Amino acid sequence: MSGTPHVLIKRQDIQAAVDRVAGEIRRDYEGKNPLLIGVLKGSFIFMADLVRRIAMPLEISFVRLSSYGSGTESSGKIKVLTRFSEAVKDRHVIIVEDIIDTGLTTSYLVDYLSKKRPASVRLCSLTDKPARHKIPIKIDYLGFTVPDKFIVGYGIDWDEKYRYLPDICYIE
Ligand code: 5GP
Repeated sequence: MSGTPHVLIKRQDIQAAVDRVAGEIRRDYEGKNPLLIGVLKGSFIFMADLVRRIAMPLEISFVRLSSYGSGTESSGKIKVLTRFSEAVKDRHVIIVEDIIDTGLTTSYLVDYLSKKRPASVRLCSLTDKPARHKIPIKIDYLGFTVPDKFIVGYGIDWDEKYRYLPDICYIE
């Protein structure tokens, strides 16, 4: 990769997608005080925009995961690094992801949370790369389907760089 970011999804289109997804969540969770669990670090801007658009009572938490793999490939060997303090039992949980690539990270997290006996677990992701899935994965709330490119911006990094970019970009 040369490292030069090119715009893939403009900021206005991101905001329109966040509005749409927030509307879907509001409709489905009205009166349920859902617990949104953001997967750090890449989801932090999406999460911040999303909760303000959902604009109804909810709670948030974050979880940090590690995936041991080579370079940009997910190995599927995942560990939960930061535990969230909020009780998950009997809660309506929505996992908030930045990218579903192979799906291995998310599937691990869904299993991990399901063992804590929540009332429900659903998945919300800003982007999805269906061409890369290694296992079937059900995304309940999706911003964008993206091509098999390495993306950065809007909170998503490449080696900690480019999180500040307001658009979703790809690197060649
Ligand atoms: P997977 O779905 O393969 O288990 O892993 C998803 C994670 O891999 C993402 O949360 C992210 O950390 C990393 N990842 C996958 N594709 C990309 C990409 O295009 N750009 C960036 N920055 N990270 C990616």
